[in-house]
Amino acid sequence: MIVAPKIRGFICTTAHPAGCARHVADQIAVVKNRGPVANGPKKVLVVGSSTGYGLASRIAAAFGSNAATIGVFFEKPGEADRCGTAGWYNSVAFEKEARAAGLYARSFNGDAFSDAMKAEVVEAVKKDLGQVDCVIYSLASPRRTHPKTGEVFKSVLKPTGGASYTNKNLNTGTGVVNEVTIEPANDDEVAQTVAVMGGEDWEMWIDALQSAGVLANGVQTVAYSYIGPEVTWPIYKNGTIGRAKEDLERAQRALDARLAPLKGKAWVSVNKALVTQASSAIPVVPLYISLLYKVMKAGGTHEDCIEQMDRLFRERLYNGDPQPDEAGRIRVDDWEMAPEVQQLVDERWKQVNTENFPQLGDFEGYQSSFLRLFGFGLEGVDYNADVDTGVGVPSLA
Ligand code: NAD
Repeated sequence: MIVAPKIRGFICTTAHPAGCARHVADQIAVVKNRGPVANGPKKVLVVGSSTGYGLASRIAAAFGSNAATIGVFFEKPGEADRCGTAGWYNSVAFEKEARAAGLYARSFNGDAFSDAMKAEVVEAVKKDLGQVDCVIYSLASPRRTHPKTGEVFKSVLKPTGGASYTNKNLNTGTGVVNEVTIEPANDDEVAQTVAVMGGEDWEMWIDALQSAGVLANGVQTVAYSYIGPEVTWPIYKNGTIGRAKEDLERAQRALDARLAPLKGKAWVSVNKALVTQASSAIPVVPLYISLLYKVMKAGGTHEDCIEQMDRLFRERLYNGDPQPDEAGRIRVDDWEMAPEVQQLVDERWKQVNTENFPQLGDFEGYQSSFLRLFGFGLEGVDYNADVDTGVGVPSLA
């Protein structure tokens, strides 16, 4: 099939298998070029391993530390006449590259929130690896079926506190900068968002693994969060998603206590704002990201998911110097939050409109990053050539 991008709002409904493979190979090259991570993890479980930060974590662990990896994701396989999702093709490519490098890699496609998935993964760890020494929790989902009650929770991206929020917003298709007003969430919407994106499921994963005895001594587990600048706080830090992230920090403290007998450690890592399938759905944030990319690229400090996750492993988790902030969080958003970066972004935020956006923002960078998520616009890929959309993930074949 010849595969071209089909964009509907903030998603692309097609994905290019060869382009996704190129994207994965490029990320592997970044890690390999930086050399091995001394004392890195050896047996790693990544929950949410097929795209964005989770995929980058899996790549950083495998190709920085020669780690065996188990990945869990929820993706649609491709067929001969129909595209699968980008995360499916990323996982096909990752497993092929890992196997070619002599690394163990096994994947599970299904609902990570379910008890059945946890049980399957625990069995695989037991049988294939014995134990894991690192568990990365990187799910981003709009809904969760609670495994005990069957209740379906839906997350929303809204301000809390009863007041609506109006700010500038980017139409990521056209480059038009307009205003958006988002009505506040009610208490039920807050609770549902916390149920989907908060820490309960992370705790359930660690419970399942710990009670089966498959967590190694000294295990580290990390979940990802975002804080960002004040301009985004009403929709992020102080919004429904921020409430879920507070709950993630609650879970981190609970897990820390639970892992103490293993001399283990739970972390929340605050990562940089980046174009991913999850972040492109958040109002206001894509405009902020476009301004941020321009400033950070000019300053030479721009990173993508893979550079972020490589730095997390190399310069925080496995070098004996995690540099936690006052709340005990790891910060790899430090370059994003640098005062000189934020000051420039803030000045431009105040000025930006449709007319000056091409000068102030990195729209080209935003759009090309978005397309790359789906395997489009990568160098060295012949997009006019027929490509097999029915490729399978080796361990799921
Ligand atoms: P993403 O959309 O790229 O990845 C989400 C992953 O979750 C995919 O692998 C997907 O298959 C998996 N997934 C979703 N629902 C699932 C389910 N029910 N069962 C199994 N797998 C499922 O998202 P991302 O942006 O990489 O986000 C990952 C984490 O990083 C989130 O906690 C997010 O809040 C956090 N984060 C993101 C940013 C950002 O700017 N993108 C910044 C800081 C922190």
